[in-house]
Amino acid sequence: MNKSADKKTGLVFFPAFDWAISPTHPEREERLLYTRDQIFEEGIMDLPQIEEFTPILATPHDIERVHFCVPRVEDQTTEAHLIAAGAAILLADKVVSGSVKNGFALVRPPGHHAMRVVHGNRGFCNINNEAIMVDYLRHKHAIKRVAIIDTDVHHGDGTQDIFWHDPDVLFISFHQDGRTLYPGTGYANELGGPKAFARTINIPLPPGTTDESLLYVVDNLILPVLKDFNPEFVVNSAGQDNHYSDPLGSMRITAQGYARLTEKLQPDLAVLEGGYAIESALPYVNLAIILALADLDYSGVMEPDYWHGRFKESPERMSHVQRMVEHLMNCWEKRDSTLPGQKRLKGRFFEREKRIFYDTDYIDERQVEKLRLCDECPGYLIIETAANYGRGLSGKALCISVPFGACNNCLDESADFYERAKKKGDIRYVYLQNKSADTFLVFDALSKKEHR
Ligand SMILES: [Zn+2]
Ligand SMILES: [Zn+2]
Repeated sequence: MNKSADKKTGLVFFPAFDWAISPTHPEREERLLYTRDQIFEEGIMDLPQIEEFTPILATPHDIERVHFCVPRVEDQTTEAHLIAAGAAILLADKVVSGSVKNGFALVRPPGHHAMRVVHGNRGFCNINNEAIMVDYLRHKHAIKRVAIIDTDVHHGDGTQDIFWHDPDVLFISFHQDGRTLYPGTGYANELGGPKAFARTINIPLPPGTTDESLLYVVDNLILPVLKDFNPEFVVNSAGQDNHYSDPLGSMRITAQGYARLTEKLQPDLAVLEGGYAIESALPYVNLAIILALADLDYSGVMEPDYWHGRFKESPERMSHVQRMVEHLMNCWEKRDSTLPGQKRLKGRFFEREKRIFYDTDYIDERQVEKLRLCDECPGYLIIETAANYGRGLSGKALCISVPFGACNNCLDESADFYERAKKKGDIRYVYLQNKSADTFLVFDALSKKEHR
């Protein structure tokens, strides 16, 4: 997006007072209340460079453009979810229309663990705020290429799942190594589907990683890849649980480290994800990010228990990170000449099986996902999902997703597949999500009713 020095940084605060997993859960409203106090104390809201906005609600249709909520959007979301996603949409609209230069949606509940199919809450997330905003921009403003940089300590597995096959959305996530932290994924060999190879890039970092190695990754991998990809819009999934005081993560990133990261990435929009050290980290990290976005001096933002040189990078960690960066840069350079794994090819389809655990709701989901390999477009997806909700309950659905820019053949084939699945009637819910036409159909085999 065009950046003009005289434009403001837009902020939305939404602490979601009435939404919590449980009263003592780390994902709770105080996460944002301390930040809000700090920002008021520092007089940030009075600065001419800052403008605050009131959030709007995302519509169920905005959510259906991305997700298959089983059975319907209303069953998986509360008003707080619609506001968190709506805040991201509102700020993205302001950036694209040029009324602010960039924005930060300080909202909860978070979203980056929410995958394309939603049976419940996983990793504190039901719907993916960033993905909903990105597909809104692609529909509303015909933006084609978007980059999402996920800087949360946890792997952004939901965002990865949603854009896995999408050649026009670059997803880069650095996070604490999945062998040591939820959700246990995000390895360097997870590089995206056959039509979008290396448009997913994961950088698992060893526990204890400091600002030095992190900024090495930014300078030597993320920025060169972004330059090549040349996105029209850059999103930062801004999780702050890489902070050295975070109770869930084991990293050593500082508020200054986060500010420099933000300054280097220059995101059009940052959307808050995790961060659970509500007093010792979040107010400082959030303030530093806001100042960096607004091109203001952030050098004075420092945690009370931090001193210069407190964390030193170990040579072993640094050389490990350097080798990984070199390997991933190599994958990126070969992105258009790497062929899909032959054993997953089933005729004209590319197939993968997934098993997904919803840690918050204790749901066990199994999926078979088939991508129609097409030479004319990114190809449509057919997902068969079966979830075990416990207590003898289960949910089955067939989800068909037609991408932006689908060719006529894929449009016809996917519509035909949907009609045949309806007639067959052996799966309770059948969905047809068509991003090209911006339509969403759901057929309930029990009532024989179809809804738009
Ligand atoms: Zn997190
Ligand atoms: Zn096609």
